[in-house]
Amino acid sequence: MSKRTKIVATIGPSTSSPDILKSMINEGVNVFRVNFSHGSHSDHIKAIAEIRKVDNELGTHSAILADLQGPKIRIGEMPDDGLLLENNAEFYLTTLAEHSYKNAAQIFIDRIPKDVKPGEKVLLDDGKIHLEVLETNLIDTVKTKVIAGGVLFSKKGLNLPETNISISSLTNKDREDLIVALEQKVDWIGFSFVRSAREVIELRHLINGHKGAAKIIAKIEKPEAVNDLKGILSETDAVMVARGDLGVEIPLEMVPLVQKRIVNLAKHMAKPVIIATQMMESMMENITPNRAEVNDVANAVMDGADAVMLSGETSVGKHPVDVIKIMSRIINEVESQYDNIYVKETLPEKNNDRFITDSICFNVCRLAQRVEAKAIITMTHSGYTAYKISSQRPKSEIFVFSSNKKLLSTLSLVWGVSTFYYDKTISTDHTIADIMHLLKEDEYVESGDLIINTASIPLGENGKTNMLKLSYIE
Ligand code: PGA
Ligand code: MN
Repeated sequence: MSKRTKIVATIGPSTSSPDILKSMINEGVNVFRVNFSHGSHSDHIKAIAEIRKVDNELGTHSAILADLQGPKIRIGEMPDDGLLLENNAEFYLTTLAEHSYKNAAQIFIDRIPKDVKPGEKVLLDDGKIHLEVLETNLIDTVKTKVIAGGVLFSKKGLNLPETNISISSLTNKDREDLIVALEQKVDWIGFSFVRSAREVIELRHLINGHKGAAKIIAKIEKPEAVNDLKGILSETDAVMVARGDLGVEIPLEMVPLVQKRIVNLAKHMAKPVIIATQMMESMMENITPNRAEVNDVANAVMDGADAVMLSGETSVGKHPVDVIKIMSRIINEVESQYDNIYVKETLPEKNNDRFITDSICFNVCRLAQRVEAKAIITMTHSGYTAYKISSQRPKSEIFVFSSNKKLLSTLSLVWGVSTFYYDKTISTDHTIADIMHLLKEDEYVESGDLIINTASIPLGENGKTNMLKLSYIE
Protein backbone atom coordinates (compact mmCIF):
# COMPACT_ATOMS: atom_id res chain seq x y z
CA MET A 1 0.00 0.00 0.00
CA SER A 2 1.35 3.44 -0.80
CA LYS A 3 1.57 6.05 1.94
CA ARG A 4 -1.68 7.81 2.81
CA THR A 5 -0.37 11.22 3.91
CA LYS A 6 0.63 13.32 0.93
CA ILE A 7 3.79 15.37 0.43
CA VAL A 8 3.83 18.88 -1.04
CA ALA A 9 7.25 20.02 -2.30
CA THR A 10 8.13 23.55 -3.34
CA ILE A 11 10.06 23.83 -6.59
CA GLY A 12 13.02 26.14 -7.16
CA PRO A 13 16.63 26.20 -8.31
CA SER A 14 17.37 22.88 -6.54
CA THR A 15 14.65 21.05 -8.48
CA SER A 16 15.36 22.39 -11.94
CA SER A 17 16.45 19.11 -13.52
CA PRO A 18 13.88 16.59 -14.82
CA ASP A 19 15.83 13.76 -13.18
CA ILE A 20 15.44 15.36 -9.77
CA LEU A 21 11.71 15.89 -10.34
CA LYS A 22 11.41 12.27 -11.37
CA SER A 23 13.20 11.04 -8.26
CA MET A 24 11.08 13.29 -6.07
CA ILE A 25 7.88 11.79 -7.48
CA ASN A 26 9.25 8.27 -7.12
CA GLU A 27 10.16 8.95 -3.51
CA GLY A 28 6.71 10.26 -2.62
CA VAL A 29 5.92 13.81 -3.78
CA ASN A 30 2.25 14.22 -4.69
CA VAL A 31 1.96 17.99 -5.11
CA PHE A 32 4.44 20.52 -6.50
CA ARG A 33 4.18 24.04 -5.15
CA VAL A 34 5.11 26.95 -7.38
CA ASN A 35 5.86 29.90 -5.11
CA PHE A 36 4.85 33.17 -6.81
CA SER A 37 6.80 35.13 -4.17
CA HIS A 38 9.97 34.27 -6.08
CA GLY A 39 10.91 33.98 -9.74
CA SER A 40 9.41 35.29 -12.97
CA HIS A 41 6.33 34.19 -14.87
CA SER A 42 8.49 32.54 -17.50
CA ASP A 43 10.32 30.55 -14.79
CA HIS A 44 6.99 29.31 -13.44
CA ILE A 45 5.61 28.42 -16.86
CA LYS A 46 8.75 26.48 -17.70
CA ALA A 47 8.74 24.61 -14.39
CA ILE A 48 5.08 23.65 -14.75
CA ALA A 49 5.71 22.31 -18.26
CA GLU A 50 8.65 20.30 -16.93
CA ILE A 51 6.55 18.74 -14.14
CA ARG A 52 3.81 17.81 -16.61
CA LYS A 53 6.34 16.22 -18.94
CA VAL A 54 7.87 14.12 -16.16
CA ASP A 55 4.41 13.20 -14.92
CA ASN A 56 3.47 11.99 -18.38
CA GLU A 57 6.55 9.83 -18.59
CA LEU A 58 5.86 8.27 -15.18
CA GLY A 59 2.09 7.99 -15.64
CA THR A 60 1.53 9.93 -12.39
CA HIS A 61 -0.95 12.75 -11.67
CA SER A 62 1.01 15.24 -9.58
CA ALA A 63 -1.02 18.23 -8.50
CA ILE A 64 0.29 21.75 -9.03
CA LEU A 65 -0.24 24.40 -6.39
CA ALA A 66 0.34 28.02 -7.40
CA ASP A 67 0.97 29.91 -4.19
CA LEU A 68 0.19 33.64 -4.43
CA GLN A 69 2.38 35.98 -2.40
CA GLY A 70 -0.45 37.99 -0.87
CA PRO A 71 0.17 41.26 0.97
CA LYS A 72 3.50 40.16 2.40
CA ILE A 73 4.93 43.47 3.55
CA ARG A 74 8.64 44.01 2.97
CA ILE A 75 10.96 46.84 3.86
CA GLY A 76 13.23 48.50 1.26
CA GLU A 77 16.98 48.50 0.87
CA MET A 78 19.25 48.62 3.94
CA PRO A 79 23.03 49.04 4.01
CA ASP A 80 24.89 46.06 2.53
CA ASP A 81 26.04 44.66 5.86
CA GLY A 82 22.73 45.51 7.56
CA LEU A 83 21.80 48.11 10.15
CA LEU A 84 22.15 47.35 13.85
CA LEU A 85 18.98 48.19 15.77
CA GLU A 86 19.83 48.59 19.43
CA ASN A 87 17.35 47.96 22.22
CA ASN A 88 15.40 51.08 23.29
CA ALA A 89 16.63 53.09 20.29
CA GLU A 90 14.19 55.04 18.11
CA PHE A 91 13.51 53.62 14.68
CA TYR A 92 11.41 55.07 11.86
CA LEU A 93 9.30 53.39 9.21
CA THR A 94 8.59 55.76 6.35
CA THR A 95 7.04 55.69 2.91
CA LEU A 96 9.37 58.53 1.87
CA ALA A 97 12.26 57.64 -0.43
CA GLU A 98 14.14 60.78 0.67
CA HIS A 99 14.28 61.63 4.36
CA SER A 100 16.68 62.70 7.08
CA TYR A 101 16.10 59.89 9.60
CA LYS A 102 19.31 58.11 10.47
CA ASN A 103 17.64 55.03 11.89
CA ALA A 104 14.93 54.10 9.40
CA ALA A 105 13.58 51.64 6.86
CA GLN A 106 11.44 52.42 3.87
CA ILE A 107 7.97 50.87 3.60
CA PHE A 108 5.79 50.80 0.48
CA ILE A 109 2.27 50.62 1.83
CA ASP A 110 0.69 54.03 2.32
CA ARG A 111 -1.93 52.64 4.67
CA ILE A 112 0.58 51.67 7.36
CA PRO A 113 1.12 55.17 8.85
CA LYS A 114 -2.65 55.71 8.71
CA ASP A 115 -3.64 52.41 10.31
CA VAL A 116 -1.09 51.80 13.09
CA LYS A 117 -1.75 53.01 16.64
CA PRO A 118 0.68 53.80 19.46
CA GLY A 119 1.47 50.71 21.52
CA GLU A 120 1.05 48.26 18.63
CA LYS A 121 3.74 45.73 17.78
CA VAL A 122 5.80 45.73 14.58
CA LEU A 123 7.82 42.60 13.81
CA LEU A 124 10.70 42.47 11.33
CA ASP A 125 12.45 39.51 9.71
CA ASP A 126 10.03 36.75 10.83
CA GLY A 127 9.80 38.23 14.30
CA LYS A 128 13.54 38.34 14.96
CA ILE A 129 13.31 42.10 15.56
CA HIS A 130 10.50 43.58 17.60
CA LEU A 131 9.40 47.25 17.56
CA GLU A 132 6.64 49.14 19.32
CA VAL A 133 4.79 52.05 17.71
CA LEU A 134 5.35 55.33 19.63
CA GLU A 135 3.55 57.70 17.29
CA THR A 136 2.53 58.19 13.68
CA ASN A 137 2.09 61.40 11.69
CA LEU A 138 -0.81 59.62 9.95
CA ILE A 139 0.70 60.56 6.57
CA ASP A 140 4.03 58.92 5.79
CA THR A 141 6.09 58.14 8.89
CA VAL A 142 5.81 55.95 11.98
CA LYS A 143 8.10 56.45 14.96
CA THR A 144 8.87 53.28 16.91
CA LYS A 145 11.00 52.05 19.77
CA VAL A 146 13.19 48.96 19.45
CA ILE A 147 12.05 46.37 22.00
CA ALA A 148 14.22 43.48 20.80
CA GLY A 149 16.98 44.57 18.46
CA GLY A 150 19.22 42.90 15.93
CA VAL A 151 20.79 43.49 12.55
CA LEU A 152 18.26 44.42 9.87
CA PHE A 153 18.94 43.55 6.24
CA SER A 154 17.29 44.65 2.96
CA LYS A 155 13.85 43.44 1.88
CA LYS A 156 13.03 41.63 5.13
CA GLY A 157 9.39 40.89 5.94
CA LEU A 158 7.34 43.14 8.21
CA ASN A 159 4.34 41.90 10.20
CA LEU A 160 1.75 43.99 12.04
CA PRO A 161 -0.03 41.38 14.18
CA GLU A 162 -1.99 43.92 16.20
CA THR A 163 -2.95 46.35 13.44
CA ASN A 164 -6.23 46.31 11.61
CA ILE A 165 -4.90 47.16 8.19
CA SER A 166 -7.32 48.12 5.45
CA ILE A 167 -5.59 46.64 2.42
CA SER A 168 -7.00 43.84 0.30
CA SER A 169 -5.48 40.40 0.78
CA LEU A 170 -5.30 40.14 -3.02
CA THR A 171 -2.72 42.60 -4.31
CA ASN A 172 -2.35 43.73 -7.93
CA LYS A 173 0.59 41.36 -8.25
CA ASP A 174 -1.58 38.48 -6.99
CA ARG A 175 -4.26 39.32 -9.57
CA GLU A 176 -1.71 39.22 -12.38
CA ASP A 177 -0.11 36.04 -11.03
CA LEU A 178 -3.53 34.44 -10.75
CA ILE A 179 -4.16 34.93 -14.47
CA VAL A 180 -0.86 33.23 -15.32
CA ALA A 181 -1.60 30.36 -12.92
CA LEU A 182 -5.07 29.84 -14.39
CA GLU A 183 -3.73 29.92 -17.95
CA GLN A 184 -1.36 27.15 -16.88
CA LYS A 185 -4.37 25.24 -15.54
CA VAL A 186 -2.89 24.66 -12.12
CA ASP A 187 -4.99 22.55 -9.73
CA TRP A 188 -4.77 24.65 -6.58
CA ILE A 189 -4.33 28.34 -5.75
CA GLY A 190 -2.72 29.22 -2.40
CA PHE A 191 -4.39 32.29 -0.89
CA SER A 192 -1.87 33.93 1.46
CA PHE A 193 -2.86 36.06 4.47
CA VAL A 194 -6.55 35.51 3.89
CA ARG A 195 -8.56 37.09 6.71
CA SER A 196 -12.20 36.20 6.13
CA ALA A 197 -14.66 33.96 4.34
CA ARG A 198 -15.69 36.96 2.26
CA GLU A 199 -12.18 37.19 0.79
CA VAL A 200 -12.31 33.52 -0.20
CA ILE A 201 -15.57 34.24 -2.03
CA GLU A 202 -13.89 37.19 -3.76
CA LEU A 203 -11.05 34.95 -5.01
CA ARG A 204 -13.61 32.37 -6.15
CA HIS A 205 -15.36 35.08 -8.21
CA LEU A 206 -12.05 36.06 -9.80
CA ILE A 207 -11.28 32.43 -10.70
CA ASN A 208 -14.76 31.90 -12.13
CA GLY A 209 -14.50 35.19 -14.02
CA HIS A 210 -11.44 33.82 -15.81
CA LYS A 211 -13.29 30.54 -16.40
CA GLY A 212 -10.72 28.79 -14.24
CA ALA A 213 -11.25 25.41 -12.60
CA ALA A 214 -8.59 25.79 -9.91
CA LYS A 215 -9.49 25.14 -6.29
CA ILE A 216 -8.58 27.33 -3.35
CA ILE A 217 -6.25 26.65 -0.42
CA ALA A 218 -6.78 29.25 2.29
CA LYS A 219 -3.48 29.79 4.11
CA ILE A 220 -4.15 30.34 7.78
CA GLU A 221 -1.47 32.81 8.86
CA LYS A 222 -3.40 35.79 10.30
CA PRO A 223 -5.15 36.07 13.68
CA GLU A 224 -8.32 37.19 11.85
CA ALA A 225 -8.31 33.90 9.94
CA VAL A 226 -7.86 31.89 13.14
CA ASN A 227 -10.89 33.69 14.53
CA ASP A 228 -13.01 32.96 11.45
CA LEU A 229 -11.89 29.37 10.87
CA LYS A 230 -15.36 27.92 10.47
CA GLY A 231 -16.42 30.60 8.01
CA ILE A 232 -13.24 30.27 5.96
CA LEU A 233 -13.43 26.47 5.97
CA SER A 234 -16.98 26.52 4.69
CA GLU A 235 -15.99 28.66 1.67
CA THR A 236 -12.55 27.29 0.82
CA ASP A 237 -11.69 23.95 -0.81
CA ALA A 238 -8.67 23.27 1.42
CA VAL A 239 -6.51 24.94 4.09
CA MET A 240 -2.86 25.27 4.96
CA VAL A 241 -1.49 25.76 8.44
CA ALA A 242 1.10 28.33 7.32
CA ARG A 243 3.21 28.21 10.44
CA GLY A 244 5.94 30.56 9.19
CA ASP A 245 3.87 33.71 9.22
CA LEU A 246 1.33 32.36 11.70
CA GLY A 247 4.08 32.06 14.32
CA VAL A 248 4.86 35.74 13.85
CA GLU A 249 1.27 36.94 13.70
CA ILE A 250 0.17 35.10 16.85
CA PRO A 251 2.36 34.13 19.83
CA LEU A 252 4.59 31.18 18.90
CA GLU A 253 3.36 29.02 21.74
CA MET A 254 -0.19 29.16 20.41
CA VAL A 255 0.72 27.60 17.05
CA PRO A 256 0.70 23.91 18.11
CA LEU A 257 -2.86 23.94 19.46
CA VAL A 258 -4.11 26.14 16.62
CA GLN A 259 -2.59 23.57 14.25
CA LYS A 260 -4.52 20.77 15.95
CA ARG A 261 -7.73 22.77 15.95
CA ILE A 262 -7.42 23.51 12.22
CA VAL A 263 -6.67 19.86 11.38
CA ASN A 264 -9.64 18.56 13.37
CA LEU A 265 -12.11 21.09 12.00
CA ALA A 266 -10.86 20.63 8.44
CA LYS A 267 -11.29 16.85 8.66
CA HIS A 268 -14.72 17.31 10.17
CA MET A 269 -15.71 19.55 7.27
CA ALA A 270 -14.06 17.25 4.68
CA LYS A 271 -11.58 19.92 3.54
CA PRO A 272 -7.97 18.82 2.92
CA VAL A 273 -5.41 20.33 5.31
CA ILE A 274 -1.67 20.88 4.76
CA ILE A 275 0.91 21.41 7.52
CA ALA A 276 3.59 23.80 6.27
CA THR A 277 6.94 25.37 7.07
CA GLN A 278 10.13 24.28 8.78
CA MET A 279 9.14 20.61 8.89
CA MET A 280 12.62 19.48 7.84
CA GLU A 281 14.39 22.86 7.90
CA SER A 282 17.78 21.52 9.00
CA MET A 283 17.88 19.33 5.87
CA MET A 284 18.41 22.46 3.79
CA GLU A 285 22.03 21.81 4.75
CA ASN A 286 22.27 18.46 6.51
CA ILE A 287 21.73 14.97 5.20
CA THR A 288 19.56 13.96 8.18
CA PRO A 289 16.84 15.92 10.00
CA ASN A 290 17.05 16.76 13.67
CA ARG A 291 14.96 14.74 16.10
CA ALA A 292 12.44 17.50 16.78
CA GLU A 293 11.73 17.70 13.05
CA VAL A 294 11.14 13.94 12.83
CA ASN A 295 8.67 14.33 15.69
CA ASP A 296 6.96 17.26 14.00
CA VAL A 297 6.33 15.32 10.79
CA ALA A 298 5.24 12.23 12.74
CA ASN A 299 2.82 14.27 14.83
CA ALA A 300 1.24 15.86 11.76
CA VAL A 301 0.67 12.35 10.40
CA MET A 302 -0.77 11.16 13.74
CA ASP A 303 -3.15 14.13 13.79
CA GLY A 304 -4.35 13.00 10.37
CA ALA A 305 -3.29 15.95 8.22
CA ASP A 306 -3.81 15.35 4.50
CA ALA A 307 -0.36 16.58 3.60
CA VAL A 308 2.96 17.77 4.95
CA MET A 309 4.83 20.47 3.07
CA LEU A 310 8.44 21.32 2.27
CA SER A 311 9.51 24.84 1.31
CA GLY A 312 13.19 25.81 1.21
CA GLU A 313 14.16 22.19 1.91
CA THR A 314 13.33 21.28 -1.69
CA SER A 315 13.39 24.64 -3.50
CA VAL A 316 16.86 25.80 -2.51
CA GLY A 317 18.07 23.05 -0.15
CA LYS A 318 21.00 20.75 -0.76
CA HIS A 319 19.07 17.48 -0.55
CA PRO A 320 15.74 17.80 -2.39
CA VAL A 321 15.44 14.04 -2.96
CA ASP A 322 16.78 12.74 0.36
CA VAL A 323 14.41 14.96 2.29
CA ILE A 324 11.46 13.32 0.48
CA LYS A 325 12.88 9.86 1.15
CA ILE A 326 13.14 10.52 4.87
CA MET A 327 9.75 12.18 5.07
CA SER A 328 8.18 9.15 3.34
CA ARG A 329 9.91 6.82 5.79
CA ILE A 330 8.50 8.72 8.76
CA ILE A 331 5.01 8.75 7.23
CA ASN A 332 5.07 5.04 6.42
CA GLU A 333 6.26 4.10 9.87
CA VAL A 334 3.57 6.08 11.66
CA GLU A 335 0.78 4.99 9.32
CA SER A 336 1.63 1.33 9.76
CA GLN A 337 1.96 1.45 13.55
CA TYR A 338 -0.46 4.05 14.82
CA ASP A 339 -4.13 3.11 14.52
CA ASN A 340 -5.61 6.31 15.93
CA ILE A 341 -5.26 7.98 12.54
CA TYR A 342 -8.01 5.87 11.08
CA VAL A 343 -11.78 6.04 11.03
CA LYS A 344 -13.09 9.42 12.06
CA GLU A 345 -16.84 9.42 11.97
CA THR A 346 -18.81 12.51 11.16
CA LEU A 347 -22.52 11.74 11.19
CA PRO A 348 -24.25 12.90 8.01
CA GLU A 349 -26.65 15.81 8.50
CA LYS A 350 -30.22 15.15 7.59
CA ASN A 351 -31.22 18.59 6.33
CA ASN A 352 -28.62 18.75 3.63
CA ASP A 353 -29.05 18.25 -0.11
CA ARG A 354 -26.14 15.79 -0.11
CA PHE A 355 -27.73 13.65 2.61
CA ILE A 356 -27.97 10.51 0.46
CA THR A 357 -24.38 10.74 -0.81
CA ASP A 358 -23.09 11.63 2.65
CA SER A 359 -24.89 8.65 4.16
CA ILE A 360 -23.46 6.29 1.56
CA CYS A 361 -19.94 7.61 2.16
CA PHE A 362 -20.38 7.33 5.92
CA ASN A 363 -21.60 3.74 5.73
CA VAL A 364 -19.01 2.76 3.16
CA CYS A 365 -16.30 3.65 5.68
CA ARG A 366 -18.10 1.86 8.51
CA LEU A 367 -18.57 -1.24 6.41
CA ALA A 368 -14.99 -1.09 5.19
CA GLN A 369 -13.80 -1.11 8.76
CA ARG A 370 -16.12 -3.92 9.82
CA VAL A 371 -15.18 -6.29 7.00
CA GLU A 372 -11.57 -5.04 6.73
CA ALA A 373 -12.05 -4.24 3.07
CA LYS A 374 -8.93 -3.95 0.99
CA ALA A 375 -10.23 -0.99 -0.98
CA ILE A 376 -13.04 1.47 -1.47
CA ILE A 377 -13.61 2.25 -5.11
CA THR A 378 -15.52 5.28 -6.20
CA MET A 379 -16.51 6.88 -9.49
CA THR A 380 -16.80 10.62 -9.34
CA HIS A 381 -17.00 13.61 -11.63
CA SER A 382 -16.95 16.42 -9.07
CA GLY A 383 -14.71 14.65 -6.56
CA TYR A 384 -17.26 15.06 -3.81
CA THR A 385 -17.31 11.40 -2.74
CA ALA A 386 -13.52 11.28 -2.77
CA TYR A 387 -13.21 14.21 -0.32
CA LYS A 388 -15.99 12.82 1.81
CA ILE A 389 -14.67 9.26 2.02
CA SER A 390 -11.09 10.40 2.58
CA SER A 391 -12.16 12.70 5.42
CA GLN A 392 -13.27 9.63 7.38
CA ARG A 393 -9.73 8.26 7.11
CA PRO A 394 -10.60 4.64 6.30
CA LYS A 395 -7.86 2.08 6.65
CA SER A 396 -8.85 0.61 3.28
CA GLU A 397 -7.29 2.13 0.19
CA ILE A 398 -9.34 4.70 -1.72
CA PHE A 399 -9.30 4.25 -5.50
CA VAL A 400 -11.00 7.05 -7.39
CA PHE A 401 -11.98 6.63 -11.03
CA SER A 402 -12.96 9.61 -13.11
CA SER A 403 -13.32 10.79 -16.68
CA ASN A 404 -12.57 14.29 -15.43
CA LYS A 405 -8.82 14.55 -16.13
CA LYS A 406 -8.42 17.69 -14.05
CA LEU A 407 -9.76 15.88 -11.01
CA LEU A 408 -7.07 13.18 -11.20
CA SER A 409 -4.30 15.65 -10.38
CA THR A 410 -6.39 17.84 -8.06
CA LEU A 411 -7.14 14.86 -5.80
CA SER A 412 -3.44 14.04 -5.44
CA LEU A 413 -3.43 16.39 -2.46
CA VAL A 414 -6.12 14.42 -0.66
CA TRP A 415 -5.30 11.92 2.11
CA GLY A 416 -5.23 8.27 1.01
CA VAL A 417 -6.63 8.86 -2.47
CA SER A 418 -5.18 7.25 -5.61
CA THR A 419 -6.71 8.31 -8.92
CA PHE A 420 -7.31 6.54 -12.24
CA TYR A 421 -8.69 7.69 -15.55
CA TYR A 422 -11.86 5.93 -16.70
CA ASP A 423 -14.35 7.10 -19.30
CA LYS A 424 -16.52 4.15 -20.33
CA THR A 425 -20.20 4.48 -19.52
CA ILE A 426 -21.94 1.30 -20.59
CA SER A 427 -23.71 0.30 -17.38
CA THR A 428 -23.01 0.33 -13.66
CA ASP A 429 -22.52 -3.46 -13.64
CA HIS A 430 -20.13 -3.26 -16.55
CA THR A 431 -18.14 -0.39 -15.00
CA ILE A 432 -17.72 -2.18 -11.68
CA ALA A 433 -16.60 -5.40 -13.34
CA ASP A 434 -14.28 -3.57 -15.70
CA ILE A 435 -12.65 -1.50 -12.94
CA MET A 436 -12.10 -4.59 -10.79
CA HIS A 437 -10.43 -6.25 -13.74
CA LEU A 438 -8.15 -3.23 -14.29
CA LEU A 439 -7.15 -3.03 -10.63
CA LYS A 440 -6.39 -6.74 -10.53
CA GLU A 441 -4.36 -6.59 -13.72
CA ASP A 442 -2.22 -3.80 -12.29
CA GLU A 443 -1.91 -5.66 -8.96
CA TYR A 444 -3.65 -3.10 -6.81
CA VAL A 445 -5.93 -5.91 -5.62
CA GLU A 446 -5.83 -9.70 -5.80
CA SER A 447 -8.22 -12.65 -5.82
CA GLY A 448 -10.10 -12.96 -2.57
CA ASP A 449 -9.78 -9.29 -1.56
CA LEU A 450 -12.97 -7.73 -0.26
CA ILE A 451 -13.76 -4.43 -1.91
CA ILE A 452 -16.54 -1.87 -1.77
CA ASN A 453 -17.78 0.03 -4.78
CA THR A 454 -19.88 3.14 -4.68
CA ALA A 455 -21.89 4.22 -7.69
CA SER A 456 -24.84 6.21 -8.81
CA ILE A 457 -27.70 4.42 -10.49
CA PRO A 458 -28.88 5.02 -13.08
CA LEU A 459 -25.43 5.70 -14.48
CA GLY A 460 -24.82 9.28 -15.54
CA GLU A 461 -21.90 11.71 -15.47
CA ASN A 462 -23.24 13.88 -12.72
CA GLY A 463 -25.49 11.48 -10.89
CA LYS A 464 -25.31 11.51 -7.10
CA THR A 465 -23.76 8.51 -5.36
CA ASN A 466 -26.63 6.45 -4.03
CA MET A 467 -25.47 2.82 -3.76
CA LEU A 468 -22.69 0.66 -2.48
CA LYS A 469 -21.67 -2.87 -3.37
CA LEU A 470 -19.53 -5.25 -1.34
CA SER A 471 -17.81 -8.08 -3.18
CA TYR A 472 -14.77 -10.32 -3.45
CA ILE A 473 -12.27 -9.96 -6.25
CA GLU A 474 -12.60 -13.11 -8.33
P1 PGA B 1 4.90 31.23 2.72
O1 PGA B 1 3.71 30.52 3.48
O2 PGA B 1 6.04 30.28 2.65
O3 PGA B 1 4.30 31.57 1.42
O4 PGA B 1 5.17 32.43 3.58
C1 PGA B 1 3.89 29.53 4.43
C2 PGA B 1 4.03 30.08 5.82
O5 PGA B 1 3.88 31.28 6.07
O6 PGA B 1 4.27 29.23 6.70
MN1 MN C 1 3.33 32.81 4.73
